[in-house]
Amino acid sequence: MKLYISSDMEGIAGVSAWRQVDARTPHPEYATFRRYYTHEVRAAIEGARDTEACEVLVNDSHGPMTNLLFDELPSDVRVVFGNRKPHSMVQNAEHDFGGAFFVGYHGGAGAANAVLCHTYTPSVVYEVRVNGVACSEATINAGLLGYHGVPLLLVTGDRATVEAVQAQMPWVRGAIVKESIGAFAADTLSPEQARALIRRTAHDAVANAKNARPYVFKPPLTLDISLVTAAQADLVATIPGFTRTGGRSVRFTHDEYPTLFRAFVAAWRLGGIAS
Ligand SMILES: [Zn+2]
Repeated sequence: MKLYISSDMEGIAGVSAWRQVDARTPHPEYATFRRYYTHEVRAAIEGARDTEACEVLVNDSHGPMTNLLFDELPSDVRVVFGNRKPHSMVQNAEHDFGGAFFVGYHGGAGAANAVLCHTYTPSVVYEVRVNGVACSEATINAGLLGYHGVPLLLVTGDRATVEAVQAQMPWVRGAIVKESIGAFAADTLSPEQARALIRRTAHDAVANAKNARPYVFKPPLTLDISLVTAAQADLVATIPGFTRTGGRSVRFTHDEYPTLFRAFVAAWRLGGIAS
């Protein structure tokens, strides 16, 4: 199987604070947590390969997207590194992959008991819906994979994240590495126990791939975004194709999901410079 992995850091075992995952103003803890992160991705790859041979592409999808320690992954794995990718957390997912993993994912903006919950940009995105469906990062990213015919097989993170994904995609196997207590605390497995759980669950996920299906939003597609501030909506509404639907809300409609996805990326990037 060709396996696609989108990996994030907030849902890694032990993570409960921004400083642990902040690559831009690195706290000494970041070096430790990027190692935990790399090792959870490695455990997911090893678990998949316990089931069958897998050609693997990993998209480093957290912050500046340059967090993985490349020499601590299997040497035949390819990695997409770097920021400002048009398809961001699901860049290069269109090359006939048989399945996908989301490792280290987190709850969407406004989720309860979901540590470090947000949707792409915490200070910009208040809520996002596609065809009326409330979207976390996992939802909106799975939609692009689904457009390309790639089913999501595995999600790892806290309980809130895994259960929210499974409510929308019941075929997805979940590895719950921690129980969040609000937005800034978690009761968590150790890194070693988390890796073992992820490896077992990844093995199971690939073994059950035949029961998974692509998560597809059917056109016509409507993207509704509520920004955090009206000033952000002022800027986003200037993007051709967007209409203003309220003080801090905008809408974009299209028939092609990749275009809708890029419109979402453009919105949070432009909204991010409003203040
Ligand atoms: Zn992240």
